[in-house]
Amino acid sequence: MKDKRILTGKQIAVKVGTLNIGGDNPSIMIAGPCAVESRQQVIDTALALKEVGVDVLRGGVFKPRTSPYTFQGMGLKGLEYLKEAGEKINTPIITELMDEKNLDAVVEYSDIIQIGSRNMYNYSLLKEVGGINKPILLKRGMSASIKEWVMAAEYIAAYGNNNIILCERGIRTFEVYTRNTLDLAAVPIMKSETGLPIIVDPSHGTGRKELIMPMAKGALACGADGLMVEVHIDPTEALSDGQQSLNPKEYKKMILELNRCSF
Ligand code: PEP
Ligand code: MN
Repeated sequence: MKDKRILTGKQIAVKVGTLNIGGDNPSIMIAGPCAVESRQQVIDTALALKEVGVDVLRGGVFKPRTSPYTFQGMGLKGLEYLKEAGEKINTPIITELMDEKNLDAVVEYSDIIQIGSRNMYNYSLLKEVGGINKPILLKRGMSASIKEWVMAAEYIAAYGNNNIILCERGIRTFEVYTRNTLDLAAVPIMKSETGLPIIVDPSHGTGRKELIMPMAKGALACGADGLMVEVHIDPTEALSDGQQSLNPKEYKKMILELNRCSF
């Protein structure tokens, strides 16, 4: 199978503006709220993150929620706020694209386009983002095997876009103590299978804020090229995923602790 593939394991670094992700480059921090909830919320969070250090600002504006009765995201207005927040702190932004109809807007506004766990199997969406010239962050499907995840990346590459960053965000297992089971073995495996940069999301990977720090350390020790962490200005008030979001003070503590470690 491997000789038919584009992603053969040769190391690829992905460029996002002046930022290089993967290869021998230092690990990067993607942080921000699960969802953009208001202009003030995303700007306040961005300013707090900037003080500590952040490479890419995240924020969902189209939210794939389990219940249709919960907050679904601000849509295009939220995208404008996220962009404004990113510009204020001079940092690229990432947001999730859920369907093809918003492709043009997301391509125009966002520096990296996230394909979420639920859409890893959406082959028509993968083909669409394969046809654009922007970095794609491809999250692992929550029930995806390594092989299926590799082939999802291969879809994007086969349609012309090699600027792919992988993101391990945990898989469903019998264990319910955590939201997902973070599969850190996938980090070195996906690197050698594809050569693509890989980052780890310990927020969705555990669902519990107290597990973010130990899993972040583990991820970097396993060779991850960066982390994606949910940070909210006040997680107790978050409209989604507050239980797995750090506040800016906790984020700072995590960064200081990670800086003390040598990976
Ligand atoms: C997210 O990062 O906002 C998200 C919804 O994550 P996942 O697709 O991993 O569930
Ligand atoms: Mn979330």
